[in-house]
Amino acid sequence: MTDTILVVDKLKKYFPTKRGTVKAVDNISFSVTTGETIGLVGESGSGKTTTAQCVIGIYPPTDGEILFKGQTISEAFSKRSKALKRDIRIVFQDPGSSLNPKRSIKQILSVPLKVHRVATKKDHLTKIKSLLAMVELPPDEYMYKYPQAIGGGEKQMVAIARALATDPSLVLLDEPTSALDVSVQGKIINLLMKLQQDLNLTYLFITHDLSLMRNVASRVAIMYLGKLCEIAPTVEFFQNPTHPYTKMLLSAIPVVSQEEKALKPTKIASRGEIPSPVNVPSGCSFHSRCSEKMDMCAQDDPVMVEIGEGHVTRCHLYQDTKVAASIEQEEGVHAQDPVDQPRGDG
Ligand code: SF4
Repeated sequence: MTDTILVVDKLKKYFPTKRGTVKAVDNISFSVTTGETIGLVGESGSGKTTTAQCVIGIYPPTDGEILFKGQTISEAFSKRSKALKRDIRIVFQDPGSSLNPKRSIKQILSVPLKVHRVATKKDHLTKIKSLLAMVELPPDEYMYKYPQAIGGGEKQMVAIARALATDPSLVLLDEPTSALDVSVQGKIINLLMKLQQDLNLTYLFITHDLSLMRNVASRVAIMYLGKLCEIAPTVEFFQNPTHPYTKMLLSAIPVVSQEEKALKPTKIASRGEIPSPVNVPSGCSFHSRCSEKMDMCAQDDPVMVEIGEGHVTRCHLYQDTKVAASIEQEEGVHAQDPVDQPRGDG
């Protein structure tokens, strides 16, 4: 699990509208390692779904680059690279609208097999049965059913089977459980985690449910109004959140155990709604809601700085962290900055 499968580099996706330009994704960079799950988290309008849609080639970037296995995605999609389309697949939020109600499960699963020529026609039935078995649906029982005859969780299992029909490396999960009953959400998550292990899949998991990421993601990235605020390995993210927006989201998570309660930031009240993406506030776009804003925040947009291993944040409160760390190193001061303290193995 050391090689990089996806690089998103200074990605911008702007949409011109009558009311002005919507900067849905505005200069974001991150990479994804083979076999990991990175959670892309934010409120509605944060740009997380547009990012996924750029990665899968639905939208060409306005600027910036997306590299998949070293290949520029926009170029590959413009050449209609079937190999790339086989290798990156997506599971949508609402399985009810993503499955054709006029087709049986067998017909639905046969479409990617035909389009991407995954198996010869005589092998289609065997492949469809193995896909259904993979998502824990008894093939003979489900193959000839129609989507409206099965439950929401089962529909999503079929959607997952369809995504896996082409043996992809990267799967984009766009809120795959948010349209489902709570009773089946856990089942779908467990299935996704099992499939990831069995097939060495890489997941880009789009969600607004931060608490879900604690058990699912290896890293968490927070988006707000088209920009990334903070990225960190999951344990570090929950133990040492830095960005005020991250803290606001974390403080809103309901907790049930004392352990979770101890980790939850306090005194971070949720202020107002996310502003319109047509009128993004100047300076730090979060300043209109931030409980820690300073005078400079309304004028100057902060940049991403690394404050710990794999932990980056975009906030004026941390802009000098690197400078301070290098001065301490030069002076031989072994100050125990919180981000540099060794953490328990637990
Ligand atoms: Fe808050 Fe200022 Fe940091 Fe933005 S830069 S999150 S307004 S403290």
